[in-house]
Amino acid sequence: MKTLKAVYPGSFDPFTLGHMDIIQRLQPFFDEIVVLIAQSSEKKCLFSDQERKALALEALKKFKNVKVDVHSGLTVDYLKQYGARVIIRGLRAVSDYEYELSMANMNKRLYPEVETMIIFSRPEYNYLASRMVKEVAFHGGDIKGLVPPNIEKALIKKISKRRS
Ligand code: ADP
Repeated sequence: MKTLKAVYPGSFDPFTLGHMDIIQRLQPFFDEIVVLIAQSSEKKCLFSDQERKALALEALKKFKNVKVDVHSGLTVDYLKQYGARVIIRGLRAVSDYEYELSMANMNKRLYPEVETMIIFSRPEYNYLASRMVKEVAFHGGDIKGLVPPNIEKALIKKISKRRS
């Protein structure tokens, strides 16, 4: 039997409840989903690749068919090697549209067998972005209900470490 695999790529710096919602809603349709964390320079992300991976893994542990991996380079190269043809992306608002469209088109050009599946965020998460969560946390605002509990703790710890 064929295994239906999908890859959900992103920065996930950190993984939020908006990302979680996408996984929760789509995981029943796939045998396996990989949350693919884009490797990036320490300067660009608050959390290191391995921290982002560990935090997402902990948050997603109840989903037996969801894995977390780190990758540097083209997402389509990961898909080819993993044997997947589906990329999952989320759309919050019109502002996401152009970026998602060009990325889907570029990925299709690089790997014609690939399909990007876009899922709309729930209205209650359509303003939620990792960048905003970090900004609120930096200024001491309440981030409960925006990220999974383990990530809330890790964010607070990371920020207080940066301050001291
Ligand atoms: P990137 O850095 O590639 O934009 P992100 O980690 O910010 O990666 O997000 C990964 C994917 O999840 C993107 O398609 C993004 O639009 C989507 N996403 C992020 N936050 C939400 C949300 N609150 N609701 C739905 N989709 C989201």
